[in-house]
Amino acid sequence: MQKISGFFPRFLKRRIKRLLYFGFSRYCPVCESRLRLFQPFGINPRQDAFCPVCESLERHRFAWQFLKQKTDLFDGESKRMLHVAPELEFEKKFKKVPSLDYLTADIRNPRAMAKIDITNNPYPTESFDVIFCSHVLQHVQDDRRGIGELYRVLKNGGWAVFLEFIGHQETVESRSERDAAERERLFGLHGYFRRYGPDFKDRLEESGFAAEVFKACEVVGQDNVVRMGVKDELIFFCRKS
Ligand SMILES: [Zn+2]
Repeated sequence: MQKISGFFPRFLKRRIKRLLYFGFSRYCPVCESRLRLFQPFGINPRQDAFCPVCESLERHRFAWQFLKQKTDLFDGESKRMLHVAPELEFEKKFKKVPSLDYLTADIRNPRAMAKIDITNNPYPTESFDVIFCSHVLQHVQDDRRGIGELYRVLKNGGWAVFLEFIGHQETVESRSERDAAERERLFGLHGYFRRYGPDFKDRLEESGFAAEVFKACEVVGQDNVVRMGVKDELIFFCRKS
């Protein structure tokens, strides 16, 4: 990927990148850029993955399109939203939605509005209308407790969006803090307690959620899977009722 000098202000850098990577084959729904291709990303690089303009990956583009197409997030009705481990690009967009009473929370990120451990959530029961939690629970030692706490703080009638890397036929985990090296061997990366399988849905439902799984192709349409670079991502859409 080409580096743009730090001399340019952010909005100008973005315009330059849009021109540099302009094309008609790809479209990023997050930054609304038309591109030739997405860029490679990862340790063993995945081709056609990374938006050079807004830095979104497959999961971000799918999640954004899902929020726009399948939820009432942008309908203008007031909602209180909890965004766990906020992605910067989404955070900037959510902050601009006047109807959202928006809160970001993270255990470490100093940019988050609240520093919280999701397994020991400080918010009262039924505090939020919407929760967005992407690629967090695989890093949480007691994920069932984390899910239970998110269920607790969601209002009745509210909804939550979960995304995780689904890398196995069924969930494989090692919850011992001591076995960091073993966990790295099992999961390929530092800081993971598990790799989920499709049974992640069952784990969400154990806490009381009614969970529905959406495939990228079902949401954006088969023609847009490659164009938007969303590949085979899944979204776990949960309601509390
Ligand atoms: Zn983008």
